[in-house]
Amino acid sequence: MTEFTFETDAQHAPYNLAYLVDDRSYCYHRFDVDPAHDDGVVDPDTGRRDAPPDFGARRRAVVAFYGHRCGRCAARVDTGSDGDAEVAYLFSVADEDQDSWALRTLVAVCEPCYDLLSTDCTDRIGGFGDAYRRAPQFPAWTGDPRVAVERLPLTGREVWFSDQLRERVAVEGPTGESVNADAAADACLARSTPAAVAVALNEALVADERGPLSTATRRLSDQWESLADRERDAYEQRAVDAETVVGGGFEPCIDLQRA
Ligand SMILES: [Zn+2]
Repeated sequence: MTEFTFETDAQHAPYNLAYLVDDRSYCYHRFDVDPAHDDGVVDPDTGRRDAPPDFGARRRAVVAFYGHRCGRCAARVDTGSDGDAEVAYLFSVADEDQDSWALRTLVAVCEPCYDLLSTDCTDRIGGFGDAYRRAPQFPAWTGDPRVAVERLPLTGREVWFSDQLRERVAVEGPTGESVNADAAADACLARSTPAAVAVALNEALVADERGPLSTATRRLSDQWESLADRERDAYEQRAVDAETVVGGGFEPCIDLQRA
């Protein structure tokens, strides 16, 4: 198992529970998954790599490994259709096509987070409807840091929240490349904030919403409401317009040439 220290560091963060207990090899036997299919299967007609025949077993294994929670936002996910849980999707963090179906490279996510993470070019936005709008702006601390990306702000309120929270968060800069850089670079709706920072922003937001309220302080949501219309409009201009995906003031990870 990977050694870790309790420092706020993108490589060895204290929050990434699923990532720390990273030996998933037992899942192959328990869920009847065949390691020979870790690369998927090649369609003899098209030459394209496709999902392996034991996809269902892999999905059950990964969803169980993540405790039936989304690896990004911690919403309840399930492989069945009953209950109030979101439908579980599998997101692969593999490099290129290498072992993209290996259990260690798969993260169980809810539909909104899958939509956010897998929208890799502008013409695919809306491929699953607009589920990405329901994905929380920030990742949960219990999630997997490899998918701990910040969603691009879709409203002026979210832009303002992000600005305000950044002033409250003090995270030591990660020494190396952030563990979520690949996922962020491939998701045009995600912001390439280092994982530790993205998680810390969410914690700051939760603390603000749930913290004690004194007469001297107001919740951020109240402060936003008290801004002048002109100020709110200015922030609205900086929000991401999903139709055109132009993020004024932000640098979305979009390669417009690819679209
Ligand atoms: Zn989610």
